[in-house]
Amino acid sequence: MYNKYSLKAEEFIDHEEVLASLAYADENRDNLELIDQLLEKARLRKGLSHREASVLLACQNPDKIQEMYDLAEQIKKDFYGNRIVMFAPLYLSNYCVNGCVYCPYHLKNKHIARKKLTQEEIVREVTALQDMGHKRLAIESGEDPVHNPIEYILESIQTIYSIRHKNGAIRRVNVNIAATTVENYRKLKEAGIGTYILFQETYHKESYEKLHPTGPKHNYAYHTEAMDRAMEGGIDDVGLGVLFGLELYRYEFAALLMHAEHLEAVHGVGPHTISVPRIKHADDIDPNVFDNGIDDETFAKICALIRICVPYTGMIISTRESKAVREKVLRLGVSQISGASRTSVGGYYEPEPEEECSEQFDVSDKRTLDEVVRWLMELGYIPSFCTACYREGRTGDRFMALCKSGQIQNCCHPNALMTLKEFLMDYASEETKKIGEALIEAELKNIPREKTRLIAADHIKKIEEGIRDFRF
Ligand code: SAM
Repeated sequence: MYNKYSLKAEEFIDHEEVLASLAYADENRDNLELIDQLLEKARLRKGLSHREASVLLACQNPDKIQEMYDLAEQIKKDFYGNRIVMFAPLYLSNYCVNGCVYCPYHLKNKHIARKKLTQEEIVREVTALQDMGHKRLAIESGEDPVHNPIEYILESIQTIYSIRHKNGAIRRVNVNIAATTVENYRKLKEAGIGTYILFQETYHKESYEKLHPTGPKHNYAYHTEAMDRAMEGGIDDVGLGVLFGLELYRYEFAALLMHAEHLEAVHGVGPHTISVPRIKHADDIDPNVFDNGIDDETFAKICALIRICVPYTGMIISTRESKAVREKVLRLGVSQISGASRTSVGGYYEPEPEEECSEQFDVSDKRTLDEVVRWLMELGYIPSFCTACYREGRTGDRFMALCKSGQIQNCCHPNALMTLKEFLMDYASEETKKIGEALIEAELKNIPREKTRLIAADHIKKIEEGIRDFRF
């Protein structure tokens, strides 16, 4: 029985409720009167329910789809301005005891190179990431209680935060590790992590169990209820995601929104971010064996609708996607992207020899961080290396309150400009620097409050003189 307040996975992601929502969406896909009403409701910027959102996803009317795109673009501008937050993944270990059939780290894969970074190797990796200009990482690891126990993850986080190379520093470590206990989430919180990210992969229980035939990840309820445990452990920024391609996208979309509604209902705060990965080719993984792949147009529609339905939730896109797809979805709602990513263990310090491949999947966007930053600016965006919110305690509902107060333009905007200035001073090529300096000068004028504008301009001057790490 569907109950968004329940703590049981099968009740807050009730299979029958998903099916009923899809049936309702099918019945109403051509009901233009209802679709207009839903678009009108969405214009209030308070989001839409999973059932309402499913109708918009089912609608195939080109004019209405264009309206959805226009609205997504407008909401994106109103809530996030033109800032795009930058991050990079850091693979710590690919030892894994699970049997996920889409992932090359599965236990039965005997020919992939198994690697686990030592603390010294982490220093080398993080130094290389700092030298590109990264300030925010997402650490990734396979699930293996012997090779990658929580103590290893915690020690690694401590190491990452302690590294200072030239003007470099990693100021926010997000964590993407397997579902764990409340006690371990508490330890991650104490270690100062930013967001805890865990992809559901698929919300469809029967498929989930087939796709995860062996290992601790086989347990659907334990995996699906992980965010509740994370929040119980004190982590209030959590990141959801499904791996598109595994199950029917309409099922995943409705269930993903049900998960967001559940977190909001039980914990008073929805997900901090939603990621939208699609299955990629990897070592012994052929994405074509999965029947539910989605084309770029459907993918864009999903991104636009996530933007409309959960306006306060950040959306993340990785280098799994090409430059062209990234460009399209940035406009429709994506607020965070990775740049210059390596999905191999140890790949930042030195490229892996071909016979030693440890990559999790192939990346499509292989540009350097400098190239990605320049490209974003040429498209009219401000690449932001800001990590201020969680360092100032603005997490969970306090972050949401900042969004809702309309003060983002007096806070996130200057922070974006100041951190971009650091990037330009310390890491950018001459060409990128030239474009960036002009952008900062123009964008400073868009800080509404005069006092903030003057302080930001002063901080930017001080960055030129060598001082770092200002924030509002
Ligand atoms: N092992 C952890 C877990 O169980 O959640 C950490 C996550 S893993 C390192 C990061 C994510 O990569 C997975 O959650 C999965 O969605 C995604 N992934 C795995 N194989 C993939 C593939 N072939 N293509 C694209 N993404 C993949």
